[in-house]
Amino acid sequence: MSKLSGKVQTVLGLVDPDQLGRTMTHEHLVMSFECSYTTPPPGDEAVAENPFQMQHMHWLRQHPYSCRENLFLSQELSALRDELLAYRKAGGGTIVENTTMGIDRDLPALRQLAKDTGVHIIAGAGYYIDCTHTEATKKMSVEKLTDNIVSEVLHGADGTDVRCGVIGEIGTGWPITESEKKVLRATAHAQSQLGCPVIIHPGRDPAAPVEVVRILQEAGGDISKTVMSHLDRTIFDEGELLEFANMGSYLEYDLFGTEMLNYPFNLKVDMPSDSQRVRTLAFLVKEGYEDKVLVAHDIHTKNRLTKFGGHGYSHILKNIVPKMLTRGITQHQVDKILIDNPKRWLTFK
Ligand SMILES: [Zn+2]
Repeated sequence: MSKLSGKVQTVLGLVDPDQLGRTMTHEHLVMSFECSYTTPPPGDEAVAENPFQMQHMHWLRQHPYSCRENLFLSQELSALRDELLAYRKAGGGTIVENTTMGIDRDLPALRQLAKDTGVHIIAGAGYYIDCTHTEATKKMSVEKLTDNIVSEVLHGADGTDVRCGVIGEIGTGWPITESEKKVLRATAHAQSQLGCPVIIHPGRDPAAPVEVVRILQEAGGDISKTVMSHLDRTIFDEGELLEFANMGSYLEYDLFGTEMLNYPFNLKVDMPSDSQRVRTLAFLVKEGYEDKVLVAHDIHTKNRLTKFGGHGYSHILKNIVPKMLTRGITQHQVDKILIDNPKRWLTFK
């Protein structure tokens, strides 16, 4: 039995699972999202060059990926420190930082933020979506990818001694590319060696989560210790959602705070409102999945920080939880979603 067994691995070392408290299971603190830059609509170029002004706030919420400067959360360390202190004050305990290879993970910065604020931060191992894989990554065998992921958990990542406590977010698109399939198999192999938590970013198609789970299962992954992220923009039909839920992964609604008319990454998707997200959570709880639901904001652009007029990392604790309580979810079930489910998922077997 490894020394990780029964523990959670934060950027400051191993902790007892009972210490985590309320946990957001899919956030980013220090990253860049340049890979997803989208050209602004014709005529909006000047606004995109000069985004952080009151009169451009609405534009920025509708077009967050069309302004380069907005994509560098990594430039906002002092604002992030304030955010984490506010998160603690609002009753938050832990943040799972999902930044993996390809979107500028910065582990020393995460360690410093954890030291400065007292928030437990758990870092992610592995690789983001195909377009961020280097040529060297694309050429690696599944065995080599597995070794790299295992080493990021056991010894530290990016040439540091900061160890990752989850694998993911592992990025996949739709259709899933060959390189992404290799990374998924490596993820499953590493998970069966380590007994660790895994978290997946699925492609934007209702069939994507099922396909990812099949690939992980075939490679020996533990689906009961795997989180499927971004279900709020992926599966809309209640029947399909229950079919997927039945496969046994955790079900994550992690775009709380994102309300936009035209979702630039898939214009066919109607991004739900927070009210609709809460309604879906209540539906899953009613259907018996209260031990599987997880929530977060997946903050990955500057405009979502309170410094720039955004909702910040405390939005769920301050605004969504009270709403959940008025929509048929009990305090006991809220505690499961925020405390017990993350704790169970994050504890090494
Ligand atoms: Zn993410």
